[in-house]
Amino acid sequence: MEPFDLAVVGGGAAGFMTAITAAENGVKRIIILEGTSKLMEKVRISGGGRCNVTNATWIPKELVENYPRGGIQLLESFNRFAAGDVYDWFEKKGLKLKIEEDLRVFPVSNSSSDVIDCLRKSALSKNVEILTKFFVKEISKTPDNIFNISSLKKKVTSKNIILSTGGNPSGYKLAQNLGHNIVKPLPSLFTFSTKEPNLDECSGVSIKGIDIEIKLNTKTFQNRGDLLITHWGFSGPAVLKLSSIAARELYNQKYKFNLIIKWSALSYEELKEKVNYLRLNKGKVNLINSRPLPKLTKRLWIFLLNKIGLDKEKKWADLLVDEREKMINILKRDKYIISGKGPFGEEFVTSGGVKINEVNFKSMESLICPGLFFSGEVLDVDGITGGFNFQHCWTSGWIAGMAVSKLNH
Ligand SMILES: Cc1cc2nc3c(=O)[nH]c(=O)nc-3n(C[C@H](O)[C@H](O)[C@H](O)COP(=O)(O)OP(=O)(O)OC[C@H]3O[C@@H](n4cnc5c(N)ncnc54)[C@H](O)[C@@H]3O)c2cc1C
Repeated sequence: MEPFDLAVVGGGAAGFMTAITAAENGVKRIIILEGTSKLMEKVRISGGGRCNVTNATWIPKELVENYPRGGIQLLESFNRFAAGDVYDWFEKKGLKLKIEEDLRVFPVSNSSSDVIDCLRKSALSKNVEILTKFFVKEISKTPDNIFNISSLKKKVTSKNIILSTGGNPSGYKLAQNLGHNIVKPLPSLFTFSTKEPNLDECSGVSIKGIDIEIKLNTKTFQNRGDLLITHWGFSGPAVLKLSSIAARELYNQKYKFNLIIKWSALSYEELKEKVNYLRLNKGKVNLINSRPLPKLTKRLWIFLLNKIGLDKEKKWADLLVDEREKMINILKRDKYIISGKGPFGEEFVTSGGVKINEVNFKSMESLICPGLFFSGEVLDVDGITGGFNFQHCWTSGWIAGMAVSKLNH
């Protein structure tokens, strides 16, 4: 059988984008090889079943700031195909999108199945062949530069190949066998677990715009964002982003570290004024019934009072000097001992993968093995939560597909 022009290993977001782009730009014989029986399974579960397709951060320079790893290399890529291009790409294919208040982009239908349908139909309409249950075990190259791609039972040959295997370890092994180095894959975008007594009583409390901080030996990691208290600890965009920024260092710490939460961005003096105001003007009111920071919910306020050993029924006028000190201190820097990663949050990606200095980002072609391309999470690129990881899949997939279409077939 004549070799394919392009074999795509992995039927996820990146693989589909590569195949569609190549097909729409003239590449004739394309096959997607998917190891499981399901296509785009991660797209299906993404964004809580809604699929956060991208983020309405239109300017490439601003977009790259959302990638703790790979950002610099991505600037040139985003100058060619960024979030606005993705938005148009899907809308032209009939998938209506919407931008939410926090700039995340979702299908208007709020259904990830519509994203999957859009991609699958686009591929099929261009005669892209799709083979499921074809788990690639081995790839070798013949002296006349044809790739032999084998699963346990079958074999396919192709002139070009793209690895779009996501965070699957098999993809790293295949890349290594073709000469590539792998940056150790580690989790990113995880939540934090703590055994802090009674915190679970605040489970479900969500607070906007909170500064959180992790200090590790010589390095300090900080982030501001929305914080969610869960029954196991902390989650929400602020935590997910911090886990991404500090992914490698937290791994080295075995995910045991101290988290500082700054419930207030006010200075010590400003907080002291607020506390004094309540003492002088609401002296007869119980602590529980008047909070110095309205954004702290009642449940959280009770928890914090307990944590510093203050009786919630105590009157503001009866607060002693050292009790006021404790209150101000916990609002400024509240410490939690984090005992590990929590269960997966909304998103979860792999940091690490194929070394990016071994890939030509103008084409996504390997600098080591000509004819081999990469797209998506298999690369050592990862973004924070908010649609940035899919954006990288679309961009790298589009660039690879365009590059393959420029080759002679
Ligand atoms: C719960 C969850 C929610 C998420 N939500 C979002 C979100 O809303 N927005 C966002 O931007 N990001 C989100 N992400 C991250 C995003 O899903 C990934 O970054 C993205 O799916 C990566 O796409 P990919 O095509 O590179 O890899 P994948 O989606 O992992 O696809 C790789 C495919 O390759 C196949 N494969 C692997 N090895 C082989 C092999 N040897 N042979 C054949 N096939 C193989 C796999 O079966 C898989 O189908 C989420 C992740 C998770 C886990």
